[in-house]
Amino acid sequence: MKSVNYNPFHVAQAQFDSAADLLGLDDATRALLRNPIREFHFLIPVKMDNGKIQVFKGFRIQHNDARGPAKGGLRFHPQETVDTVRALSMWMTWKTAVADIPLGGGKGGVVCDPHNLSGDEQERLCRGWVRQVYKNIGPNMDIPAPDVMTNAQHMLWMLDEYETLTGGRYPGAITGKPVGMGGSLGRTEATGYGAIITLREALKELNMDPGNTTASVQGFGNVSQYAIELYLQLGGTVVCVSAWDQKDQTSYAFAKKEGVNLEELRSISNSFGGIDKSKAADLGYSVLPGEQWLEQEVDILIPAALENQINEENVNQISKQVKIVVEGANGPTTPEASAVFEKNGVFIIPDFLANAGGVTCSYFEQVQSNMNYFWTKEEVLSKLDTKMTNAFLSVSNFAMENNLSMRSAAYAISVDRVARACHDRGWV
Ligand code: NAD
Repeated sequence: MKSVNYNPFHVAQAQFDSAADLLGLDDATRALLRNPIREFHFLIPVKMDNGKIQVFKGFRIQHNDARGPAKGGLRFHPQETVDTVRALSMWMTWKTAVADIPLGGGKGGVVCDPHNLSGDEQERLCRGWVRQVYKNIGPNMDIPAPDVMTNAQHMLWMLDEYETLTGGRYPGAITGKPVGMGGSLGRTEATGYGAIITLREALKELNMDPGNTTASVQGFGNVSQYAIELYLQLGGTVVCVSAWDQKDQTSYAFAKKEGVNLEELRSISNSFGGIDKSKAADLGYSVLPGEQWLEQEVDILIPAALENQINEENVNQISKQVKIVVEGANGPTTPEASAVFEKNGVFIIPDFLANAGGVTCSYFEQVQSNMNYFWTKEEVLSKLDTKMTNAFLSVSNFAMENNLSMRSAAYAISVDRVARACHDRGWV
């Protein structure tokens, strides 16, 4: 696998520059949107279980909040950098704008490895992070959520600290909380289902019957499992699923010509989305090492694992039968591979549109929390369908009208919406 050494913030800025050129944005708007509007960098002293103090580095970055309070996750990662957080905060601004939800973009991070922290240490770190930024976050300013290596428990500790410091109950201050403690039903399904709602619309546009299509999927985690679930309900057939094997430190593809059985695969997978190879072989799956998920003769590829998975080194191994790529993961296709797809007429549903179901449902969680009244799962999923369908249609209509790729159209729409909000507020 090619390991691309790139600075994600430079990539995000280059993508923004292209959209700004396309829209003919003025210099002031470019200067405002090329960088985060606000950054908080701080140190978090934490008393460790051994009685010593360890000092962690933390960030919260608000890229833009012209359309509404900033929104975005908080990552715990040993390799976290301020530029990664800046890039992710900018991508959140475009994601909330393309989904047309009244929020901006933000992201947070702490340089740490939770594998090496006890539960009590993690709780003190979460509370310490909130103590540093509680005056600059909240339901009307910036709403954090879980991300890489943070979970619902972390969010509840953070909310508790926020409410203790501010002296009230503000369940809409943080999303990704446990269901029953301010979390929303449907959040688990939202990203995978959202991706397939956009696929369903793409298939309509391409006059393809889902029941006659086949797909190959990378990843068997949260996004992938729920994407497979809804795609199977539409009548599609998944012939291959790829997952990471922690023991062998490589990935394997699990292929079955007549179609994989989701519940069967779930029953032999672990909580990290790894699949047991020998049990899969016993169940009749071909277990293929490496990247063979992307060499299958299928109509649809769904990369739903990691960034940079489809790149200039492997894009030419992809079957000419592939007509649609649904980017469930963030940044799974490098710009070089994306250019090859465009040349070959492959229809790409870009990441910040395809996986916007997650933040859309987080927005629903915020709304429900703010009014302290919670919807049924059916209500949540039906509102998700409406939002994702509208987001897809506005991008695909704009792409057709202006002869643009789906990715360029998604950028143009979202940057335009944010730029307009900045103009209308009189900022630029
Ligand atoms: P997850 O940790 O639940 O699952 C990841 C899956 O990818 C696992 O099955 C793992 O085995 C597999 N994997 C890892 N490396 C692999 C490799 N080299 N080859 C094959 N499989 C590999 O993660 P997730 O929450 O499903 O997120 C997947 C992607 O979607 C990430 O890019 C994430 O940023 C993005 N995303 C997730 C959400 C969400 O709501 N979960 C929202 C938006 C975007």
